[in-house]
Amino acid sequence: MGTAPSFSRVLLKVSGEALMGSKEFGIDLDMAGRVADEVVQAVKGGVQVALVIGGGNIFRGVAGAASGMDRANADQMGMLATVMNALAMQDVLISKGIDARAMSAIHMPTVCESFTRARALSHLNKGKVVLCAAGTGNPFFTTDTAAALRAAELKCDAFFKGTSVDGIYSADPKADRNAERFETLTYDEMLARNLRVMDGAAIALARDNAIPVFVFSIRQSGEFNKVLNGNGTFTEVTV
Ligand code: UDP
Repeated sequence: MGTAPSFSRVLLKVSGEALMGSKEFGIDLDMAGRVADEVVQAVKGGVQVALVIGGGNIFRGVAGAASGMDRANADQMGMLATVMNALAMQDVLISKGIDARAMSAIHMPTVCESFTRARALSHLNKGKVVLCAAGTGNPFFTTDTAAALRAAELKCDAFFKGTSVDGIYSADPKADRNAERFETLTYDEMLARNLRVMDGAAIALARDNAIPVFVFSIRQSGEFNKVLNGNGTFTEVTV
């Protein structure tokens, strides 16, 4: 599909659920290893990768709020969940011979570096994978928005969102057999259709900073690198 785009620095966002594999909760290290293999392949191919991992496999603020918790407090728990995932992925990447740095938006210096743009760029330029942890550091946001923010700050060429389906559909393809996959969509179409693949704040940030978004299946082995090279199955969101 299409001609091979050349990316030098990208942001990859995977949901926390992607790390669950076949488990119902938490981190499946085999599945984390599969995601890490994709990142290793991209880095060895000369692409700088900043990684954002969600926290939904451990805790989501909205779920805590629905159970009666204060939303801001619950969101802080959600952000801490993303730090756990980042530390797990950092460990897996290092075990595969790729240097990786978890950088948290919430200061926890005895655990990992704090996120600063300059340090993150320095790590990326040395070929290290930067794991942007703790989302934006603020409640009432999601890791999709954090990913769009980091993609803009770190001047990434594109935002890759690995999901459990191979692109954006007109309806939920797991529930509606007639759902159709879009090859391309504009940011504004995506906002107008209220497609629940990404939250509106993330799409608006990508639009305002002209960052193309590629939605693909992270469950499909090798797919991230195929999409990086202009192959594979995906939906591209652009102007
Ligand atoms: N979160 C937050 N601020 C952020 C990013 C995340 O408060 O900037 C919290 C929020 O509670 C969210 C949780 O962290 O539910 C986990 O992130 P997300 O739901 O985006 O994870 P994913 O669905 O991608 O696994």
